[in-house]
Amino acid sequence: MNRNIQQIEKTIQAALKISHRDKNSVTLVCVSKSVDLETTQQVVDLGIHQLAENRVEKLLHKKSELVSNEPLVWHFIGNLQRRKVKEIINEIDYFHALDTLKLAGEINKRAEKDISCFIQVNVSGESSKQGIRPEELDGFIEALQEFSKVKVVGLMTMAPFDSSNEELRNIFRTLNQLKQSIEMKQLSYAPCHELSMGMSGDFEIAIEEGSTFVRVGSSFFDKEEKEVEER
Ligand SMILES: *Cc1c(COP(=O)(O)O)cnc(C)c1O
Repeated sequence: MNRNIQQIEKTIQAALKISHRDKNSVTLVCVSKSVDLETTQQVVDLGIHQLAENRVEKLLHKKSELVSNEPLVWHFIGNLQRRKVKEIINEIDYFHALDTLKLAGEINKRAEKDISCFIQVNVSGESSKQGIRPEELDGFIEALQEFSKVKVVGLMTMAPFDSSNEELRNIFRTLNQLKQSIEMKQLSYAPCHELSMGMSGDFEIAIEEGSTFVRVGSSFFDKEEKEVEER
């Protein structure tokens, strides 16, 4: 796994260099949803402190069991049911999938502090994807103003699995443009400086297009690595 992490970090640095960006301008978030507690502990022991999960119970379990010499930063990705908001919302640092006002209302009601949220945008228009449509974004942000504990730190998107590199680039570039248009409004509740985009298959392109949070899962845990270690 150490080798995988080194490879991911090398790729991140190369993408930052190509796009003339600062070395520390991307946060690598490890998506540990597909691995158990022990494997997640190994990742933490290797110095990764940003973790993402997409199930409430799993996140809470890992959060209570993991041992770390530095505070862990918790990200919730994926669909969050409204009835589960109260269990999780004060346990996380970032929520990456805000896409309805009802959910924003529930978060606002249950939050004991400001909650850093990414609005999930369905840039590609793929019907199976969560997220609001780009043309709804301005109105959505305006409506969020009434929820004082919901802080819009940025936008998030997922590209369709089968996108070509050109399509990926277009999707990420579009999200970046949307982000900039909101940033320019200088809203105190929606600074919107961040972009959560890029997964194992596409984080290099996402960084070249301005991503500041990459959500990488399978690249940490793929099997080739194990074989190398066992040799
Ligand atoms: C699973 C998941 C990821 C990580 O995907 P990999 O391809 O394993 O890197 C990132 N973001 C979201 C929202 C996910 O559900």
